Amino acid sequence: MGLRELDRLGDEIAVLSAHLEAATARLLALIRRFDAEGGWNNGFRSCAHWLCWRVGLDLGAAREKVRVARALAHLPRLADALARGELSYAKVRALTRVATPDTEERLLAVGRAGTAEHVERIVRGWRLVDRKAEARDAARRHAGRALHVYQDGDGMVRVRGRLAPEVGALLMKALDAARETLYQRGRLQKAAAGADGEFGEERVSEETPTFEQQQADALALLAETALHQGLDPGTPGERYQVVVHVDAAVLADPDQPGHSVLKDGVRVSAETSQRLACDAGRVVMRHDADGQLLEISARTRTIPPALRRALQHRDRGCRFPGCGVRYGQGHHIRHWAQGGPTTLSNLALLCRRHHRAVHEERFQIQRQPDGELQFRTPHGWLIPDVPPPVDVPDDPLQIIRAQNEAAGLRLNAHTATPGWLGERLDVGYAIDVLHPLATTN
Ligand SMILES: [Zn+2]
Ligand SMILES: [Zn+2]
Repeated sequence: MGLRELDRLGDEIAVLSAHLEAATARLLALIRRFDAEGGWNNGFRSCAHWLCWRVGLDLGAAREKVRVARALAHLPRLADALARGELSYAKVRALTRVATPDTEERLLAVGRAGTAEHVERIVRGWRLVDRKAEARDAARRHAGRALHVYQDGDGMVRVRGRLAPEVGALLMKALDAARETLYQRGRLQKAAAGADGEFGEERVSEETPTFEQQQADALALLAETALHQGLDPGTPGERYQVVVHVDAAVLADPDQPGHSVLKDGVRVSAETSQRLACDAGRVVMRHDADGQLLEISARTRTIPPALRRALQHRDRGCRFPGCGVRYGQGHHIRHWAQGGPTTLSNLALLCRRHHRAVHEERFQIQRQPDGELQFRTPHGWLIPDVPPPVDVPDDPLQIIRAQNEAAGLRLNAHTATPGWLGERLDVGYAIDVLHPLATTN
């Protein structure tokens, strides 16, 4: 092949690439809409998982597509450059990791001037400056943590402080839980008092405490509980252990009357108690109609280690189509309370998310006579493991070109050529000039 021909071939590659980048911009716009409208939310963990399943992307690439699609919603100049075939998806992907509406214009110039490798290096340098600024912020916040507890003139104790965000979240969660417990207790006491009719009216007319008063009571309960437990936060497993008291009839059939109650008196739905009992690292106490304890199930229903290993080996991960999360819970396809055996053929590995989908969101799972599992949506639609292939026209490129031309694009072999002329890239200098925080150091 002669030099001239090779040159033409090179041009052809460049033109077609520009067309594909422009088409990618359209693809990202569609993904953004699908994601925002929750089109994936019919059993899939995320839009990325849906993309893996439906169009065959690997999970990393799918996550990047969704991330870039979302980011471009707030970065119109970068979105536009991609849509015009001027900036490659690789450059846009890198730039969206650091660009904000304020810095977008400058970074677009970087994308236009440099090669994909330059862009990648500048973005790395940019992130370093961002991370240093972030680390400084975090260090300042951390140093600023404080809790002042002191007595006021009238003997009341004042509490004032500043907590790191994650510690604050922990405190708020604990207060919420403590408030919920107190409130629940109060209701139960009222109900009990109402039942024997003695103090009923007096108690009911008692004023409900304000939110602030409830918070104060919740803090007291937290302190009391912490001291009572010897300030032992426990292992994660213990922390999340749940005890469910459930009427025997309910566990077998959620439509039966009866109820399921957590240890602290909080009611849960029959479906939730079935899920919690399905793979018991939990303690389930079954009661008969008179409240007599029938059975404590953790000992009898736990999947034995050998069976669990076999289940993990057979299923490898969550069996829900398109999921594949590696660790999960053993789901009894026919619940043990309905006579389903704890055997390999009656078990399927499901991740936490999909175990909930099956029990509480009415997704259906069935084992076919050939041993394969079949999943259906709550409406009964089949969710195939592999979606049916789409009809691809004979010349998809012709269609992309036609669409691009209809959109007014006139692409040529130099649409996406960087302005770089071959000089050495000085990343440090470039960041100093470009990054808004770099000069203020
Ligand atoms: Zn289950
Ligand atoms: Zn799953």
